[in-house]
Amino acid sequence: MRNHFTIRPRQNGLRPAAGAIGLILLAVLSVPASAQTISGDDAKRASRGPSRVIGIYANGCIAGARRLPPSGRGYTAIRLQRNRNWGHPKLVRFVTDFGRWVDRRYGRVALVADLSAPRGGPISGHASHEVGLDADIRFVLKRSGGLSRAYRARPPEISMLTENKKRIDAARWSGKQIAMLRYAARYPGVDRIFVNPVIKRALCRQVKGDRGWLRKVVPWFGHHAHMHVRMTCPADSPQCIKQLKLPKGTGCGWRVRRWFVKILPAWRKRLKSGTKPKRRPPPELPTACLILFNQ
Ligand SMILES: [Zn+2]
Repeated sequence: MRNHFTIRPRQNGLRPAAGAIGLILLAVLSVPASAQTISGDDAKRASRGPSRVIGIYANGCIAGARRLPPSGRGYTAIRLQRNRNWGHPKLVRFVTDFGRWVDRRYGRVALVADLSAPRGGPISGHASHEVGLDADIRFVLKRSGGLSRAYRARPPEISMLTENKKRIDAARWSGKQIAMLRYAARYPGVDRIFVNPVIKRALCRQVKGDRGWLRKVVPWFGHHAHMHVRMTCPADSPQCIKQLKLPKGTGCGWRVRRWFVKILPAWRKRLKSGTKPKRRPPPELPTACLILFNQ
């Protein structure tokens, strides 16, 4: 099982500072760490042993990941051909509990998209999902039964926003999606949930009564066809790096408004002008991850 990973040359140049670590890794990997990049998708299965998260959501890996069963009560995993239904047991438990709740409450099934690759690590299409603590769940619930293999392999993305992405699509968005977000936000061990700013704004306007859970729902780009649920670092993983705490309050008011008056206009302007955002080179994966990927 050694070296079943393809080591790809990094495109963003070398970092001169990695000398000592590079030399140590040279012995282990035969390629200096600074000159390589690993794709999590190259791992076909998880490593054995207890589950341990290493690193941070956007730069790390997971040893001993568990596989989310392809389907269960109230949920079905989609795009299984991508082999990204792996995570820490805490995340797998959340997804299966979420499914049970969906089944109980709506008699439907949730579509569960990417969690992590079998050993975590960077995967295409995501800046995070590297440590087995992130899961994407589609907003649209489906009738149970009758989801064909072909549909599950390539389910269309159904946005909760209007075509220009500026407003909520009232024909699709309902109390159901609010209840799904509330369930996830109140679930023990959920750190935060990413949704499109338009969705966060709708929650701020529509949710009455207990609004405390809104704090955990954080606006981000995209995320209009799915919610992205992130768990906190598990107690069994001392090498898991926590994210900064969310500010107090519901995150409504200025924290949402600034997306519409500042962040999104600037982003659209940049898109129009065709200037590419300056990308920092991807950070080095933690050494423990490089070793894990080569076991
Ligand atoms: Zn996501």
